[in-house]
Amino acid sequence: MRLSRRMANVHRSYIREILKVTQRPEIISFAGGLPSPDHFPVAGFSDAAAAVLAEEGPQALQYSTTEGFLPLRQFISDRYKTKWGLDIPADEILVTTGSQQGLDLVAKVLLDEGDTVLIERPGYLGAIQCFSLFGVNFSTVDLTPSGPDLEQLALRLEEGARLFYAVPTFQNPASTAWDLTTRQETARLLAANHAVFLEDNPYGELRFMGQDMPPVRAYLDDERAVLMGSFSKIASPGLRLGWVAAKPGLMHHLVTAKQASDLHTSTLTQRILARFLADNDLDAHIEVIRREYKARRDCMVDAIREHFPAEVQASSPEGGMFLWCELPADVSSVAVFDKAIACNVAFVPGKPFYVDGTDNGFRLNFSNSTPERIAEGIKRLGRCLKEALVPGR
Ligand code: PMP
Repeated sequence: MRLSRRMANVHRSYIREILKVTQRPEIISFAGGLPSPDHFPVAGFSDAAAAVLAEEGPQALQYSTTEGFLPLRQFISDRYKTKWGLDIPADEILVTTGSQQGLDLVAKVLLDEGDTVLIERPGYLGAIQCFSLFGVNFSTVDLTPSGPDLEQLALRLEEGARLFYAVPTFQNPASTAWDLTTRQETARLLAANHAVFLEDNPYGELRFMGQDMPPVRAYLDDERAVLMGSFSKIASPGLRLGWVAAKPGLMHHLVTAKQASDLHTSTLTQRILARFLADNDLDAHIEVIRREYKARRDCMVDAIREHFPAEVQASSPEGGMFLWCELPADVSSVAVFDKAIACNVAFVPGKPFYVDGTDNGFRLNFSNSTPERIAEGIKRLGRCLKEALVPGR
């Protein structure tokens, strides 16, 4: 069958593909970017769902507005105000079917074929996949431990990027959190150039060490600053509920694009979440997740220190769900992945996080495995890394 030209530019999600292999029960998988299922607030959602169906069933099962359920948008607006002092009124918030849909809508509204999209290197593979469908060219800015390399960023913006997409707090895959100076300097550079800044922040609330950082949007209150958020990592990804915050001029077009895409996000899940948020303490729930993720992260960091060869550089993130590891430049993470599967342990090879074919990094997820499984899995992975780096050892 003849496919559209745009499909030639896009790859299937590497992670969704390897998840098929890693679902075998004998495999300890650090591959999926999954929150801990042991900590989903199942009882709270069960009560919220029952209450919604009993008290507002007909409205919950009906079509509704594209913009989203107002109490949910108001909750998001209030949270920006109380946490960061940010004034983002509810009518500048569009509820989306996960923040992944936010990426798609922003791209539809703002990007033409041949436009340049600037991303971090490495960058979120779901964004690379999404933008690829629009026939854009990518340029990249290297990610340092404090955020994007600012000299490179200035150059790339001057070269005329249409849009800069970044995940400033606990990036996927690198888990880097930009420091305050980098946030302020990035805002200054953006203000002096013409690029739109698409700030993606699904992990910002998952900080378990160090100091909380405001979104870059706090320093760039401009119609080109677009901020996305998600309930996936702080409540449940199965809900598929996220949002885009944008000024009215752009919001108008995002709403049009969403109408064409799916009319609106599920009325039922929006109302269930709104009820859950009204009847439960989200901060207390996030605190439970943070504590558990810190224990899992500590376990992974310790096991890596004990079992990985010295040539592998591993990050020590202050939050989020991932550790990022780098192999010597001539070692392919895809080749190590094949060996790891043979040893019943899995990770995500770094290649899909780069647009230039770089292949010596890999991502480990710690949120979705118990400390016991983490200790055993890292031990296995340490063995195969030693084998891969010094064959025959
Ligand atoms: N952005 C980033 C950086 C992510 O890691 C993810 C989830 N993997 C998403 C967006 C999409 O999340 P969701 O659609 O579940 O909100």
